[in-house]
Amino acid sequence: MDQNAEQQRIESIASHIESIIELLGEDVSREGLLRTPERAAKALWYLTSGYRTTSDKVVGQALFEHEGSQIVAVKDIEFYSLCEHHVLPFFGTISIGYVPDGKIIGLSKIARIVDVYARRLQVQERFTAQIADEVRRLTGAKGVIAVCSGEHLCMKMRGVEKQHSATSTIHYNGVFDDASLRAEFLSMI
Ligand SMILES: [Zn+2]
Repeated sequence: MDQNAEQQRIESIASHIESIIELLGEDVSREGLLRTPERAAKALWYLTSGYRTTSDKVVGQALFEHEGSQIVAVKDIEFYSLCEHHVLPFFGTISIGYVPDGKIIGLSKIARIVDVYARRLQVQERFTAQIADEVRRLTGAKGVIAVCSGEHLCMKMRGVEKQHSATSTIHYNGVFDDASLRAEFLSMI
């Protein structure tokens, strides 16, 4: 999307946010709220920037030859996302492990892939699966496993108001069908 089109889109989002704030019962003309629609629109645009990029773009050329066949694990990558049911934040950490097949990926690139999928409207189950499957596709790994722990504000601030709950999800493919390999990964993290 070119910059003009992007600016127009953000302005349109801002005008909808202004209407929402008004419908909620606020005075949109009071000083503290004057630039709020624009700021909120920009924040939302950033938090959903995953729609406007791809993991291929963020990884680029950062794949390297590697002869080992042991698990490579990256632990506790922070993420911030928005739940697709309430458009409220959920956030936590995700740990990824993979068994390379001749290629490894730059470690920071795994974190960038996480952001590509976190910065969308998501459910944690799909988010976990997408990352595992994308890392496998990009590296050609023999298998990938992803374990995610998330706190959902839609559960904490509303609804059942459970303050201390966390949701865990796991997704694996390829050689991680083998339970002993999963156990090895889980002991690493
Ligand atoms: Zn929700």
